[in-house]
Amino acid sequence: MKSPDPGQPPAHLADCEPDEWASWAASLGLPRMRLAQTARHYFTHLSRSAADMTDLPAAERQRLTEKLLPDLVRPVTEQLADSGQTIKTLYRLHDATAVETVLMTYPGRATLCLSSQVGCAMGCPFCATGRLGLKRNLSAAEMVDQVRQAAAAVRQGVFGTDGPDRLSNVVFMGMGEPLANYRATVRAVRAIGRPPGSGFGISLRHLTISTCGLVPAIERLAGEGLPVRLALSLHAPDDALRDQLVPVNRRFGVARTLAAAYQYYQATGRRVSIEYALMRDINDQAWRASLLAERLCQYGTGWVHLNPIPLNPVAGSVWTASRPKMQDRFVHRLEVSGLAVTLRETRGQEIDGACGQLAAKEVLN
Ligand code: SAH
Ligand code: SF4
Repeated sequence: MKSPDPGQPPAHLADCEPDEWASWAASLGLPRMRLAQTARHYFTHLSRSAADMTDLPAAERQRLTEKLLPDLVRPVTEQLADSGQTIKTLYRLHDATAVETVLMTYPGRATLCLSSQVGCAMGCPFCATGRLGLKRNLSAAEMVDQVRQAAAAVRQGVFGTDGPDRLSNVVFMGMGEPLANYRATVRAVRAIGRPPGSGFGISLRHLTISTCGLVPAIERLAGEGLPVRLALSLHAPDDALRDQLVPVNRRFGVARTLAAAYQYYQATGRRVSIEYALMRDINDQAWRASLLAERLCQYGTGWVHLNPIPLNPVAGSVWTASRPKMQDRFVHRLEVSGLAVTLRETRGQEIDGACGQLAAKEVLN
């Protein structure tokens, strides 16, 4: 199996679906069983170490690891915030580019926020990743390996004896636009959800794909038969402002984007999350809350859950968070329309690990 795109990392077992194992094994001159055994180590024992593969012939272990589980995603630094409840990890990739993840614990669960691209091409002006531009897409295995390492950390008790013992939730809200890297993202999602042996067995109902609103890709995702949650980063209910905040809106417009989100709900039965970063005097006016409510309620109230979040200021940026009074007023306007609203808490702000702050700037220069 070869990675299709130039500049991509070497092929890895986690790029493969199990029905591709036989042909990949044949091309490597290995029995298919070896791939299944190696996959069990990787997905069930969360290990890529040859030394752990005690059920495999000692002479073969090293070669299997090198061929099937190349070291693609190497941790470089780790930063803790929120009294150890938030961990940001910087990973260096095979070509010396870098991405970050944020692992968070909440009562009874652990959530990984992972990256899907190095940088991002979408250019949202308030987002640190957007400022990097796009360096490249991640392969499926580069995404899957972020999950493996986080799952191993949680299993090893990174959040202490009272913390959760397994990684339960995954959100594609780190660096990059997952739906602009569609094929690899969907492959990674399938691997995350497959049962142990060839996947991590994480319920896809606990997995969220966040998008700035690539309408054709939302429509395609709705047809994949995956029970994942869709989060739409809306940030403005009117085209005049959304064209500025989320430039890809110039192509699709708010009306088409919301129609695609509603269609996603109809196709999957999963409530769509609407992300809305509240920015002082930019998108937090009461009239915009009313317009937002009106545009969402044209499809009823039960299909959607609103997640306003105070903007996380990015260093050197003119954008600031809304005042608490304006946030409350905004939320109230939505609630009286019958919409479900949760004002999201910000995690990891002091380590630049909060939403929209990831930029891996230590390594990317
Ligand atoms: N590209 C995808 C997913 C990654 S961004 C998307 O845009 O949805 C994850 C979330 O962080 C998105 O909702 C994005 O709009 C939001 N975000 C970006 N910059 C932010 C900031 N400075 N403060 C708060 N949220 C931000
Ligand atoms: Fe890209 Fe999302 Fe940041 Fe926009 S908000 S630049 S789509 S990562």
